[in-house]
Amino acid sequence: MKRSPFVTILVLAVLGLSLCAALSRSFYLQEKAAIASEFQADIRQAAAILERQVLLNLEVLFALKAAIEHVPGKMDAQQFESLTDDILQRSPAIMAFAWAPAIEREHLAEFELEQQRTFAQWRITERDADNRVVPVSERSLYVPVQFIAPLAKNAAAVGFDLASETKRLTAIKAARDTGRMAATAGIQLVQEPDNQQGFLVFAPLYEGQPTSLQQRREAHYGYINGVFLMDELTDHAIGINNETSLLFQVIDVTDAQPNELYSNVDPASSSWVSDLDYTTRMADIAGRTWEIRAMPSQRYIDRRRSHLPALIMVSGILLIALLVIHALVNVNRNRALVASQAKLEQMSLTDGLTQVANRRHFDQFLEQEWGRAMRQQRPLSLVMVDIDNFKAYNDHYGHPEGDECLRQVARILQAVVRRPTDMLARYGGEEFAIVLPDTATGEVIAEACRAAIENAAIEHVASAVSNRVTISAGVCSMLPGASNTLDDLMQQADAALYRAKHAGRNQVARC
Ligand code: GH3
Ligand code: MG
Ligand code: MG
Repeated sequence: MKRSPFVTILVLAVLGLSLCAALSRSFYLQEKAAIASEFQADIRQAAAILERQVLLNLEVLFALKAAIEHVPGKMDAQQFESLTDDILQRSPAIMAFAWAPAIEREHLAEFELEQQRTFAQWRITERDADNRVVPVSERSLYVPVQFIAPLAKNAAAVGFDLASETKRLTAIKAARDTGRMAATAGIQLVQEPDNQQGFLVFAPLYEGQPTSLQQRREAHYGYINGVFLMDELTDHAIGINNETSLLFQVIDVTDAQPNELYSNVDPASSSWVSDLDYTTRMADIAGRTWEIRAMPSQRYIDRRRSHLPALIMVSGILLIALLVIHALVNVNRNRALVASQAKLEQMSLTDGLTQVANRRHFDQFLEQEWGRAMRQQRPLSLVMVDIDNFKAYNDHYGHPEGDECLRQVARILQAVVRRPTDMLARYGGEEFAIVLPDTATGEVIAEACRAAIENAAIEHVASAVSNRVTISAGVCSMLPGASNTLDDLMQQADAALYRAKHAGRNQVARC
């Protein structure tokens, strides 16, 4: 079956569009991957800066501890303040430094009394479940904040027993037992009323240079601790709290339950593109493991997107539309061409005056039918028809009337020769030929033609035969074989026609 050109055009258009869509998508994905890696690089850079900032501050704390270890005699508030003042000025991310001695239970009352000598209201306190300041409960070890600097901002922390709360206690013990600085998990600071997360880092202080766990526990006498606020720290480090096109979180993942230390914006918002989520782990922060988790917003991505994928798609669609239009126009042009070719062919096989088959068509048809009759061993009849005294008709009625008469005769003959396998042709001038395949008795049709013309009663007063137009016909029927040829058939039909003329016209003669 021949496929319609429209189907081909449609298939090609769909194919083209799919290709365009695939190309556009591939660019889109490539761009997305590029944006993702740009985003990751941004986050890694921010994480590295934050990490450096935190470690730098830990170094500051370590340096302070080293300095304090070399201060002779007992630490007092003034000394502590003068030691820390400069450092705090230079380290805006450090909210406070505190001095917290380790006090065993039996020395608690004595320690408190000693403090009350300088400040009568001095108490070691803890917080109850409702965050109210309450006297400390019984335990073996207390780590109260004795001095804190700057005092004005952190007065609420003075006297607070750092060992009264689990997260602080964990870090206190870790620092004491390892001799290294230990950070707490994220905590709510007692001196910080809003919800900001902070953390403390404890630097343990020992008498002498203990080397074993046992020695450390015995020689240990207190802590220098640094107080850090996450917002201050991240803000000073990377200033990301004004950046709303990406989510930047610091998560403490040391414990089974991860703890969010910092988030620049609301992580619950739906604008974060979660499939570009990126996590990177920071270096050890005084014994704790922090991760940076970040997600870009759709706005972050959109700002970095180009119009290329859309451009590819739109120009692809336009191009394909143009091609389709062009193809359709061509198809129509081709159709018109094919139609006019068919018409031309038709014309070349048809006689212009009478619209019956012309001589060329007759010759082809007769030869083809002769061959078929030969193969199928069927008879073939040929009738040659000639209008009687037609020269006289022309002379009497004029040439145009003669033409009209020819047309009329052709119509009448065609009405008799109705079998689709038969052919009526204009043989030339006022002569017609009738090919009758599979017919042994052509004279029947010939006689029917003659009678039909006579009965049509077309006036012909100049005729020597009658007062109307008549025809003479010669018929020959043959069974093609080795003994005869197509020429024989034609000559004999012609001879029969000649006989019909001589016998007086308006009659049929057969070979
Ligand atoms: P006969 O009975 O012996 O056939 O006599 P006739 O006059 O018909 O024969 P003849 O061969 O002498 O004349 C044929 C005439 O047919 C001559 C010509 O003018 C006319 N004729 C041939 N073709 C055409 C045509 O296309 N149009 C017209 N009007 N006349 C034609
Ligand atoms: Mg003639
Ligand atoms: Mg004639």
